Amino acid sequence: MKKLLVVLLVAFLLLAGIVLVNTLRFTSTQTAVEAIPAPKLSEQNIQHFQQALSYKTISYGKPELFDSSQFIGFRKFLEATYPLTHAKLTQEIVANYSLLYTWQGKDILLKPIVLMAHMDVVPVEEATIDMWSFDPFAGTVKDDFIWGRGTTDDKINLISIFEATEKLLSENFQPERTLYFAFGHDEEIGGQGAIAIAKLLKERKIAAEMVLDEGGIITKEKMPGITKPVALLGTAEKGYLTLELRVEKPGGHSSMPEKETAIDILTMALVTLRQQPFEPNFSEPMDGLMQSVGPEMPFVQRMAFANPWLFKSLIIGTYEQSGPGNAMIRTTLVPTIINAGIKDNVVPTVATATINLRLLPGDKTDEVIEQLKAIMKDDRVVISKPGTTIAEASAVTPIKSFGYQKIANSIKKSYPQMLTSPFLVIGATDSRHFGEISSNIIKFSPMIDPIGFHGIDERVSLESYQTALWFYEQLMRDLK
Ligand SMILES: [Zn+2]
Repeated sequence: MKKLLVVLLVAFLLLAGIVLVNTLRFTSTQTAVEAIPAPKLSEQNIQHFQQALSYKTISYGKPELFDSSQFIGFRKFLEATYPLTHAKLTQEIVANYSLLYTWQGKDILLKPIVLMAHMDVVPVEEATIDMWSFDPFAGTVKDDFIWGRGTTDDKINLISIFEATEKLLSENFQPERTLYFAFGHDEEIGGQGAIAIAKLLKERKIAAEMVLDEGGIITKEKMPGITKPVALLGTAEKGYLTLELRVEKPGGHSSMPEKETAIDILTMALVTLRQQPFEPNFSEPMDGLMQSVGPEMPFVQRMAFANPWLFKSLIIGTYEQSGPGNAMIRTTLVPTIINAGIKDNVVPTVATATINLRLLPGDKTDEVIEQLKAIMKDDRVVISKPGTTIAEASAVTPIKSFGYQKIANSIKKSYPQMLTSPFLVIGATDSRHFGEISSNIIKFSPMIDPIGFHGIDERVSLESYQTALWFYEQLMRDLK
Protein backbone atom coordinates (compact mmCIF):
# COMPACT_ATOMS: atom_id res chain seq x y z
CA MET A 1 0.00 0.00 0.00
CA LYS A 2 2.73 2.39 1.00
CA LYS A 3 4.65 1.50 -2.12
CA LEU A 4 1.62 2.30 -4.27
CA LEU A 5 1.21 5.68 -2.60
CA VAL A 6 4.83 6.50 -3.30
CA VAL A 7 4.46 5.51 -6.94
CA LEU A 8 1.34 7.66 -7.24
CA LEU A 9 3.05 10.59 -5.58
CA VAL A 10 6.05 10.33 -7.89
CA ALA A 11 3.75 10.09 -10.91
CA PHE A 12 1.83 13.13 -9.76
CA LEU A 13 4.98 15.18 -9.18
CA LEU A 14 6.31 14.16 -12.56
CA LEU A 15 3.08 15.20 -14.25
CA ALA A 16 2.98 18.48 -12.34
CA GLY A 17 6.59 19.07 -13.34
CA ILE A 18 5.87 18.52 -17.03
CA VAL A 19 2.82 20.78 -16.87
CA LEU A 20 4.82 23.50 -15.13
CA VAL A 21 7.76 23.31 -17.53
CA ASN A 22 5.40 23.45 -20.52
CA THR A 23 3.65 26.46 -19.00
CA LEU A 24 6.90 28.30 -18.32
CA ARG A 25 8.13 27.56 -21.82
CA PHE A 26 4.85 28.77 -23.28
CA THR A 27 6.02 32.31 -23.95
CA SER A 28 4.71 35.10 -26.13
CA THR A 29 4.81 34.60 -29.89
CA GLN A 30 3.85 38.22 -30.54
CA THR A 31 6.26 40.34 -32.55
CA ALA A 32 6.78 43.73 -30.97
CA VAL A 33 5.76 46.59 -33.26
CA GLU A 34 5.77 50.22 -32.17
CA ALA A 35 2.34 51.84 -32.61
CA ILE A 36 2.10 55.19 -34.37
CA PRO A 37 -0.73 57.27 -32.86
CA ALA A 38 -3.63 57.56 -35.31
CA PRO A 39 -4.59 61.10 -36.34
CA LYS A 40 -7.94 62.40 -35.16
CA LEU A 41 -10.92 61.82 -37.41
CA SER A 42 -11.82 64.90 -39.43
CA GLU A 43 -15.36 66.19 -39.80
CA GLN A 44 -15.09 65.18 -43.42
CA ASN A 45 -14.10 61.58 -42.56
CA ILE A 46 -17.24 61.31 -40.45
CA GLN A 47 -19.53 62.99 -42.96
CA HIS A 48 -18.44 60.64 -45.73
CA PHE A 49 -19.25 57.60 -43.61
CA GLN A 50 -22.62 59.10 -42.67
CA GLN A 51 -23.47 59.80 -46.30
CA ALA A 52 -22.51 56.25 -47.30
CA LEU A 53 -24.93 54.89 -44.69
CA SER A 54 -27.83 56.92 -46.11
CA TYR A 55 -27.93 54.81 -49.30
CA LYS A 56 -30.31 51.87 -48.89
CA THR A 57 -28.11 49.38 -50.69
CA ILE A 58 -30.18 46.52 -49.37
CA SER A 59 -29.97 42.87 -50.37
CA TYR A 60 -33.46 41.52 -49.80
CA GLY A 61 -33.05 38.20 -51.52
CA LYS A 62 -36.19 38.91 -53.56
CA PRO A 63 -35.43 40.31 -57.02
CA GLU A 64 -38.65 42.35 -57.12
CA LEU A 65 -37.53 44.34 -54.07
CA PHE A 66 -34.05 45.13 -55.40
CA ASP A 67 -33.70 48.91 -55.80
CA SER A 68 -31.07 49.53 -58.44
CA SER A 69 -31.29 53.31 -58.00
CA GLN A 70 -29.75 53.00 -54.53
CA PHE A 71 -26.74 51.13 -55.90
CA ILE A 72 -26.30 53.53 -58.82
CA GLY A 73 -26.72 56.46 -56.43
CA PHE A 74 -24.11 54.94 -54.12
CA ARG A 75 -21.64 54.56 -56.99
CA LYS A 76 -22.18 58.19 -58.03
CA PHE A 77 -21.64 59.22 -54.42
CA LEU A 78 -18.30 57.38 -54.37
CA GLU A 79 -17.25 58.98 -57.67
CA ALA A 80 -18.13 62.48 -56.44
CA THR A 81 -16.65 62.04 -52.96
CA TYR A 82 -13.33 60.49 -54.00
CA PRO A 83 -12.26 62.43 -57.12
CA LEU A 84 -8.54 61.56 -56.95
CA THR A 85 -9.31 57.86 -56.59
CA HIS A 86 -11.53 57.98 -59.63
CA ALA A 87 -8.97 59.98 -61.61
CA LYS A 88 -5.95 57.78 -60.82
CA LEU A 89 -7.45 54.29 -60.47
CA THR A 90 -9.29 52.33 -63.13
CA GLN A 91 -12.89 51.59 -62.25
CA GLU A 92 -14.81 48.71 -63.82
CA ILE A 93 -18.44 47.88 -63.25
CA VAL A 94 -18.89 44.12 -62.96
CA ALA A 95 -22.17 42.16 -62.85
CA ASN A 96 -24.05 45.49 -63.27
CA TYR A 97 -23.41 46.90 -59.80
CA SER A 98 -20.21 45.47 -58.32
CA LEU A 99 -17.03 47.53 -58.61
CA LEU A 100 -13.45 46.59 -59.38
CA TYR A 101 -10.69 49.19 -59.04
CA THR A 102 -7.10 48.81 -60.19
CA TRP A 103 -4.37 50.93 -58.64
CA GLN A 104 -1.25 50.35 -60.67
CA GLY A 105 1.79 49.60 -58.53
CA LYS A 106 5.38 50.73 -59.15
CA ASP A 107 6.76 47.23 -59.47
CA ILE A 108 4.83 45.07 -61.90
CA LEU A 109 6.95 42.04 -60.97
CA LEU A 110 5.47 41.93 -57.48
CA LYS A 111 2.29 39.95 -57.03
CA PRO A 112 -0.75 42.16 -56.54
CA ILE A 113 -3.00 42.46 -53.50
CA VAL A 114 -6.81 42.38 -53.44
CA LEU A 115 -8.70 44.39 -50.83
CA MET A 116 -12.38 43.51 -50.56
CA ALA A 117 -15.55 44.91 -49.03
CA HIS A 118 -19.21 44.73 -49.94
CA MET A 119 -21.64 47.55 -50.65
CA ASP A 120 -24.87 45.79 -49.73
CA VAL A 121 -26.46 45.53 -46.30
CA VAL A 122 -29.14 43.28 -44.80
CA PRO A 123 -32.66 44.73 -44.54
CA VAL A 124 -34.04 46.26 -41.36
CA GLU A 125 -36.86 43.99 -40.30
CA GLU A 126 -40.18 45.84 -40.40
CA ALA A 127 -41.11 44.52 -36.94
CA THR A 128 -37.96 45.92 -35.35
CA ILE A 129 -37.88 49.39 -36.84
CA ASP A 130 -39.39 50.99 -33.71
CA MET A 131 -36.77 49.28 -31.56
CA TRP A 132 -33.96 51.24 -33.17
CA SER A 133 -32.68 54.21 -31.17
CA PHE A 134 -32.16 56.18 -34.41
CA ASP A 135 -33.20 56.00 -38.04
CA PRO A 136 -31.10 53.08 -39.37
CA PHE A 137 -30.25 55.01 -42.55
CA ALA A 138 -29.47 58.41 -41.01
CA GLY A 139 -25.89 57.70 -39.95
CA THR A 140 -26.42 59.32 -36.55
CA VAL A 141 -23.34 60.04 -34.45
CA LYS A 142 -24.08 59.78 -30.74
CA ASP A 143 -22.12 58.70 -27.67
CA ASP A 144 -18.93 58.21 -29.69
CA PHE A 145 -20.61 55.70 -32.00
CA ILE A 146 -21.82 55.86 -35.58
CA TRP A 147 -25.23 54.19 -35.74
CA GLY A 148 -26.91 52.58 -38.70
CA ARG A 149 -27.47 49.57 -40.90
CA GLY A 150 -24.22 48.68 -42.60
CA THR A 151 -21.86 50.44 -40.18
CA THR A 152 -20.21 47.19 -39.11
CA ASP A 153 -21.14 45.11 -42.12
CA ASP A 154 -19.47 46.28 -44.22
CA LYS A 155 -19.40 49.99 -45.05
CA ILE A 156 -16.70 50.71 -42.44
CA ASN A 157 -14.23 48.72 -44.56
CA LEU A 158 -15.42 50.12 -47.87
CA ILE A 159 -15.32 53.77 -46.77
CA SER A 160 -12.04 53.36 -44.89
CA ILE A 161 -10.37 51.97 -48.01
CA PHE A 162 -11.61 54.96 -50.05
CA GLU A 163 -10.64 57.50 -47.38
CA ALA A 164 -7.14 56.05 -47.05
CA THR A 165 -6.68 55.88 -50.82
CA GLU A 166 -7.84 59.45 -51.37
CA LYS A 167 -5.50 60.68 -48.65
CA LEU A 168 -2.51 58.76 -50.02
CA LEU A 169 -3.21 60.02 -53.54
CA SER A 170 -3.30 63.60 -52.25
CA GLU A 171 0.32 62.98 -51.17
CA ASN A 172 1.17 61.57 -54.61
CA PHE A 173 1.69 58.13 -53.12
CA GLN A 174 1.86 55.14 -55.43
CA PRO A 175 1.83 51.62 -53.98
CA GLU A 176 4.73 49.27 -54.63
CA ARG A 177 2.39 46.48 -55.69
CA THR A 178 -0.70 46.80 -57.81
CA LEU A 179 -3.77 46.95 -55.58
CA TYR A 180 -7.20 45.72 -56.63
CA PHE A 181 -10.27 46.81 -54.73
CA ALA A 182 -13.11 44.33 -55.17
CA PHE A 183 -16.47 45.60 -53.94
CA GLY A 184 -19.38 43.20 -54.33
CA HIS A 185 -23.00 44.35 -54.35
CA ASP A 186 -24.76 41.21 -53.10
CA GLU A 187 -22.58 39.52 -50.48
CA GLU A 188 -25.55 38.98 -48.18
CA ILE A 189 -27.34 36.85 -50.75
CA GLY A 190 -24.61 34.68 -52.18
CA GLY A 191 -22.16 37.10 -53.76
CA GLN A 192 -22.74 36.85 -57.52
CA GLY A 193 -20.85 40.15 -57.82
CA ALA A 194 -17.78 38.76 -56.07
CA ILE A 195 -18.00 35.56 -58.11
CA ALA A 196 -17.98 37.64 -61.31
CA ILE A 197 -15.01 39.71 -60.13
CA ALA A 198 -13.04 36.58 -59.20
CA LYS A 199 -13.82 35.10 -62.62
CA LEU A 200 -12.63 38.26 -64.35
CA LEU A 201 -9.36 38.31 -62.39
CA LYS A 202 -8.84 34.64 -63.15
CA GLU A 203 -9.38 35.23 -66.87
CA ARG A 204 -6.70 37.91 -66.68
CA LYS A 205 -4.41 35.33 -65.04
CA ILE A 206 -4.04 37.39 -61.89
CA ALA A 207 -2.51 35.50 -58.98
CA ALA A 208 -2.64 37.69 -55.88
CA GLU A 209 -0.15 37.54 -53.04
CA MET A 210 -2.98 38.16 -50.62
CA VAL A 211 -6.69 38.89 -50.40
CA LEU A 212 -8.14 40.81 -47.45
CA ASP A 213 -11.87 40.75 -46.71
CA GLU A 214 -14.15 41.15 -43.68
CA GLY A 215 -14.24 38.43 -41.01
CA GLY A 216 -12.54 38.61 -37.61
CA ILE A 217 -12.58 41.79 -35.51
CA ILE A 218 -10.61 43.45 -32.74
CA THR A 219 -11.85 42.55 -29.29
CA LYS A 220 -11.18 44.11 -25.92
CA GLU A 221 -14.01 42.24 -24.26
CA LYS A 222 -14.29 38.74 -25.62
CA MET A 223 -10.99 37.21 -24.45
CA PRO A 224 -11.35 36.45 -20.76
CA GLY A 225 -8.22 37.21 -18.79
CA ILE A 226 -6.57 39.29 -21.49
CA THR A 227 -6.37 43.00 -20.86
CA LYS A 228 -4.88 44.00 -24.21
CA PRO A 229 -6.91 44.29 -27.43
CA VAL A 230 -6.70 41.25 -29.70
CA ALA A 231 -7.00 41.44 -33.49
CA LEU A 232 -8.55 38.19 -34.69
CA LEU A 233 -7.26 37.62 -38.20
CA GLY A 234 -9.46 35.07 -39.93
CA THR A 235 -7.26 32.49 -41.64
CA ALA A 236 -10.11 30.19 -42.69
CA GLU A 237 -13.87 30.15 -42.88
CA LYS A 238 -16.27 27.34 -42.18
CA GLY A 239 -18.12 25.53 -44.94
CA TYR A 240 -21.82 25.97 -45.58
CA LEU A 241 -24.26 23.15 -46.26
CA THR A 242 -28.04 23.12 -46.30
CA LEU A 243 -29.89 19.81 -46.52
CA GLU A 244 -33.49 18.70 -46.66
CA LEU A 245 -34.69 15.71 -44.67
CA ARG A 246 -37.88 14.16 -46.02
CA VAL A 247 -40.10 11.43 -44.67
CA GLU A 248 -43.05 9.99 -46.60
CA LYS A 249 -45.51 7.64 -44.91
CA PRO A 250 -49.18 7.26 -45.71
CA GLY A 251 -51.20 9.42 -43.30
CA GLY A 252 -54.91 9.24 -42.68
CA HIS A 253 -57.52 10.21 -40.16
CA SER A 254 -56.20 11.50 -36.87
CA SER A 255 -58.86 9.58 -34.95
CA MET A 256 -57.05 6.29 -35.54
CA PRO A 257 -53.34 7.07 -35.83
CA GLU A 258 -50.72 4.46 -36.69
CA LYS A 259 -47.99 3.83 -34.10
CA GLU A 260 -45.60 6.01 -36.06
CA THR A 261 -46.28 8.91 -38.44
CA ALA A 262 -44.10 10.86 -40.86
CA ILE A 263 -43.86 13.63 -38.26
CA ASP A 264 -42.75 11.17 -35.57
CA ILE A 265 -40.04 9.69 -37.75
CA LEU A 266 -38.75 13.10 -38.82
CA THR A 267 -38.72 14.61 -35.34
CA MET A 268 -37.01 11.53 -33.91
CA ALA A 269 -34.32 11.89 -36.54
CA LEU A 270 -33.87 15.57 -35.70
CA VAL A 271 -33.63 14.86 -31.99
CA THR A 272 -31.06 12.12 -32.64
CA LEU A 273 -28.97 14.46 -34.78
CA ARG A 274 -29.11 17.24 -32.22
CA GLN A 275 -28.24 14.91 -29.35
CA GLN A 276 -25.23 13.45 -31.10
CA PRO A 277 -23.16 16.46 -32.15
CA PHE A 278 -20.10 16.08 -34.35
CA GLU A 279 -16.82 15.36 -32.61
CA PRO A 280 -15.04 18.49 -31.38
CA ASN A 281 -11.78 19.27 -33.08
CA PHE A 282 -9.09 21.93 -32.87
CA SER A 283 -8.71 23.15 -36.43
CA GLU A 284 -5.47 24.84 -37.49
CA PRO A 285 -6.79 28.39 -36.82
CA MET A 286 -7.98 27.26 -33.38
CA ASP A 287 -4.55 25.78 -32.60
CA GLY A 288 -3.05 29.05 -33.79
CA LEU A 289 -5.37 31.02 -31.50
CA MET A 290 -4.23 28.99 -28.50
CA GLN A 291 -0.57 29.49 -29.42
CA SER A 292 -0.99 33.24 -29.99
CA VAL A 293 -3.31 34.23 -27.17
CA GLY A 294 -2.55 31.49 -24.62
CA PRO A 295 0.84 32.84 -23.50
CA GLU A 296 -0.76 36.26 -22.81
CA MET A 297 -3.31 34.80 -20.38
CA PRO A 298 -3.25 34.56 -16.57
CA PHE A 299 -1.42 31.52 -15.18
CA VAL A 300 -4.27 29.01 -14.93
CA GLN A 301 -5.55 29.56 -18.47
CA ARG A 302 -2.00 29.70 -19.76
CA MET A 303 -1.32 26.35 -18.14
CA ALA A 304 -4.37 24.83 -19.87
CA PHE A 305 -3.42 26.17 -23.31
CA ALA A 306 0.22 25.15 -22.82
CA ASN A 307 -0.84 21.57 -22.14
CA PRO A 308 -3.70 20.74 -24.52
CA TRP A 309 -2.68 17.03 -24.33
CA LEU A 310 -3.87 17.09 -20.73
CA PHE A 311 -6.55 19.79 -20.67
CA LYS A 312 -8.20 19.29 -24.06
CA SER A 313 -11.53 18.19 -22.60
CA LEU A 314 -11.49 21.11 -20.17
CA ILE A 315 -10.86 23.59 -23.00
CA ILE A 316 -13.56 21.99 -25.13
CA GLY A 317 -15.99 22.04 -22.19
CA THR A 318 -15.42 25.77 -21.81
CA TYR A 319 -15.93 26.51 -25.51
CA GLU A 320 -19.03 24.32 -25.69
CA GLN A 321 -20.86 26.49 -23.20
CA SER A 322 -21.73 29.19 -25.72
CA GLY A 323 -23.09 28.99 -29.26
CA PRO A 324 -20.22 30.98 -30.81
CA GLY A 325 -17.63 29.06 -28.76
CA ASN A 326 -19.10 25.72 -29.75
CA ALA A 327 -19.10 26.76 -33.41
CA MET A 328 -15.34 27.35 -33.18
CA ILE A 329 -14.58 23.74 -32.28
CA ARG A 330 -16.95 21.59 -34.26
CA THR A 331 -19.08 21.21 -37.36
CA THR A 332 -22.54 22.35 -36.29
CA LEU A 333 -26.03 21.37 -37.37
CA VAL A 334 -29.37 23.01 -36.66
CA PRO A 335 -32.90 22.64 -38.09
CA THR A 336 -34.08 25.95 -39.54
CA ILE A 337 -37.34 25.13 -41.35
CA ILE A 338 -39.85 22.41 -40.60
CA ASN A 339 -42.95 21.57 -42.59
CA ALA A 340 -45.78 19.04 -42.29
CA GLY A 341 -49.54 18.95 -42.11
CA ILE A 342 -52.39 20.99 -43.49
CA LYS A 343 -55.34 20.27 -41.23
CA ASP A 344 -55.81 19.54 -37.54
CA ASN A 345 -57.51 16.16 -38.07
CA VAL A 346 -55.37 14.82 -40.90
CA VAL A 347 -52.14 12.90 -40.32
CA PRO A 348 -49.80 14.19 -43.02
CA THR A 349 -48.12 11.88 -45.53
CA VAL A 350 -45.04 14.06 -45.94
CA ALA A 351 -42.87 15.79 -43.37
CA THR A 352 -39.76 17.79 -44.27
CA ALA A 353 -37.11 19.65 -42.37
CA THR A 354 -34.33 21.92 -43.57
CA ILE A 355 -31.10 21.69 -41.63
CA ASN A 356 -28.15 24.04 -41.93
CA LEU A 357 -24.61 22.86 -41.25
CA ARG A 358 -21.37 24.82 -40.86
CA LEU A 359 -18.32 22.71 -41.51
CA LEU A 360 -14.92 22.88 -39.86
CA PRO A 361 -11.92 23.01 -42.19
CA GLY A 362 -11.22 19.41 -43.13
CA ASP A 363 -14.83 18.21 -42.90
CA LYS A 364 -16.06 17.58 -46.46
CA THR A 365 -19.74 17.91 -47.34
CA ASP A 366 -20.13 14.40 -48.78
CA GLU A 367 -18.46 12.78 -45.78
CA VAL A 368 -20.65 14.77 -43.43
CA ILE A 369 -23.80 13.56 -45.23
CA GLU A 370 -22.60 9.95 -44.81
CA GLN A 371 -22.02 10.62 -41.12
CA LEU A 372 -25.57 11.95 -40.74
CA LYS A 373 -26.96 8.76 -42.24
CA ALA A 374 -24.88 6.71 -39.83
CA ILE A 375 -26.12 8.73 -36.86
CA MET A 376 -29.82 8.60 -37.85
CA LYS A 377 -29.77 4.91 -38.78
CA ASP A 378 -33.14 5.32 -40.48
CA ASP A 379 -33.50 4.81 -44.24
CA ARG A 380 -36.99 6.28 -44.16
CA VAL A 381 -35.42 9.72 -43.74
CA VAL A 382 -34.24 10.76 -47.20
CA ILE A 383 -31.52 13.40 -47.38
CA SER A 384 -31.31 15.73 -50.37
CA LYS A 385 -29.52 18.94 -51.26
CA PRO A 386 -31.92 21.77 -52.09
CA GLY A 387 -30.75 24.36 -54.62
CA THR A 388 -29.05 26.61 -52.05
CA THR A 389 -25.39 27.49 -51.94
CA ILE A 390 -23.02 24.77 -50.83
CA ALA A 391 -19.49 25.75 -49.91
CA GLU A 392 -16.72 23.58 -48.58
CA ALA A 393 -14.70 25.07 -45.72
CA SER A 394 -11.94 27.29 -47.06
CA ALA A 395 -8.27 26.42 -47.14
CA VAL A 396 -6.26 27.69 -44.17
CA THR A 397 -3.92 30.64 -44.74
CA PRO A 398 -0.54 30.08 -43.07
CA ILE A 399 0.39 32.63 -40.42
CA LYS A 400 3.90 32.72 -41.86
CA SER A 401 2.53 34.06 -45.16
CA PHE A 402 3.43 37.54 -46.37
CA GLY A 403 -0.18 38.67 -46.13
CA TYR A 404 -0.76 37.55 -42.56
CA GLN A 405 2.48 39.10 -41.40
CA LYS A 406 1.80 42.43 -43.14
CA ILE A 407 -1.70 42.67 -41.75
CA ALA A 408 -0.51 41.75 -38.26
CA ASN A 409 2.18 44.44 -38.43
CA SER A 410 -0.17 47.07 -39.81
CA ILE A 411 -2.80 46.59 -37.11
CA LYS A 412 -0.10 46.63 -34.42
CA LYS A 413 1.19 49.89 -35.87
CA SER A 414 -2.32 51.31 -35.84
CA TYR A 415 -3.27 50.68 -32.23
CA PRO A 416 -1.13 50.45 -29.09
CA GLN A 417 -0.58 47.11 -27.35
CA MET A 418 -2.44 45.16 -30.01
CA LEU A 419 -2.08 41.38 -29.94
CA THR A 420 -2.79 39.39 -33.09
CA SER A 421 -4.10 35.89 -33.50
CA PRO A 422 -5.34 33.59 -36.23
CA PHE A 423 -9.04 32.89 -36.09
CA LEU A 424 -11.70 30.66 -37.62
CA VAL A 425 -14.47 32.72 -39.24
CA ILE A 426 -17.83 31.12 -38.55
CA GLY A 427 -19.90 33.05 -41.09
CA ALA A 428 -19.52 33.16 -44.84
CA THR A 429 -17.78 36.01 -46.70
CA ASP A 430 -17.31 37.03 -50.33
CA SER A 431 -13.63 36.06 -50.12
CA ARG A 432 -14.55 32.37 -50.25
CA HIS A 433 -14.93 32.88 -54.00
CA PHE A 434 -11.28 33.99 -54.30
CA GLY A 435 -9.59 30.68 -53.55
CA GLU A 436 -8.31 30.49 -57.13
CA ILE A 437 -6.95 34.05 -57.04
CA SER A 438 -4.82 33.58 -53.94
CA SER A 439 -3.95 30.91 -51.42
CA ASN A 440 -3.44 33.59 -48.77
CA ILE A 441 -6.82 34.98 -47.78
CA ILE A 442 -7.22 36.92 -44.56
CA LYS A 443 -10.64 37.77 -43.19
CA PHE A 444 -10.46 40.73 -40.86
CA SER A 445 -12.34 43.97 -40.20
CA PRO A 446 -10.23 46.44 -38.21
CA MET A 447 -13.03 47.49 -35.82
CA ILE A 448 -13.23 47.15 -32.06
CA ASP A 449 -16.12 45.14 -30.55
CA PRO A 450 -18.84 46.22 -33.01
CA ILE A 451 -22.45 46.02 -31.84
CA GLY A 452 -25.69 44.92 -33.52
CA PHE A 453 -24.28 43.01 -36.47
CA HIS A 454 -27.33 42.18 -38.71
CA GLY A 455 -29.52 43.30 -35.79
CA ILE A 456 -31.03 46.29 -34.02
CA ASP A 457 -28.96 49.42 -33.31
CA GLU A 458 -26.03 48.29 -35.43
CA ARG A 459 -23.12 50.60 -34.63
CA VAL A 460 -19.36 51.05 -34.53
CA SER A 461 -17.35 53.35 -32.31
CA LEU A 462 -15.61 56.39 -33.75
CA GLU A 463 -12.44 54.82 -32.34
CA SER A 464 -13.06 51.82 -34.61
CA TYR A 465 -13.43 54.05 -37.64
CA GLN A 466 -10.27 55.96 -36.71
CA THR A 467 -8.43 52.65 -36.32
CA ALA A 468 -9.75 51.29 -39.63
CA LEU A 469 -8.65 54.39 -41.57
CA TRP A 470 -5.20 54.27 -40.03
CA PHE A 471 -4.87 50.52 -40.53
CA TYR A 472 -5.62 50.68 -44.27
CA GLU A 473 -3.19 53.55 -44.69
CA GLN A 474 -0.41 51.65 -42.88
CA LEU A 475 -1.17 48.52 -44.86
CA MET A 476 -1.09 50.23 -48.27
CA ARG A 477 2.20 51.95 -47.36
CA ASP A 478 3.73 48.70 -46.14
CA LEU A 479 2.78 46.29 -48.90
CA LYS A 480 6.27 46.10 -50.33
ZN1 LIG B 1 -20.53 41.30 -44.49
